Amino acid sequence: MWRRTSEYVVDDLCHCGRNSIVKTSWTNLNPGRRYKACTKFREVGGCHYFSWIDSPMCSRAQQIIPGLLKRINKHDNEVVKLKDEVQKLEDVVEKLENELKKKRSRDRWMWTVLVLSWIVVYLMM
Ligand SMILES: [Zn+2]
Repeated sequence: MWRRTSEYVVDDLCHCGRNSIVKTSWTNLNPGRRYKACTKFREVGGCHYFSWIDSPMCSRAQQIIPGLLKRINKHDNEVVKLKDEVQKLEDVVEKLENELKKKRSRDRWMWTVLVLSWIVVYLMM
């Protein structure tokens, strides 16, 4: 999914002396825009260090990108559902193949018994 992003700590220290962390914004106003903030940003008692890394996007990109992300996420969800369906079908095929093997083995055994019974009947005549 597009919302899964890597976050990483950088050596850049904030006002409180902690390392800052680089994240990616996925809000409609700032889709895909990276920023750095204190590791305790928005926590109770945390500090307010926040700074954009990427420059702001133009209004057209702000309009288009959220819709594209929604479409990509929708398609990703469909792919996940289809993979689940494929897995279920593969499980059914495997089960049917195993049943077919058992049936063939049983048929071979029945034919062997039938032929042997014919031989025995023939020899007893
Ligand atoms: Zn801080």
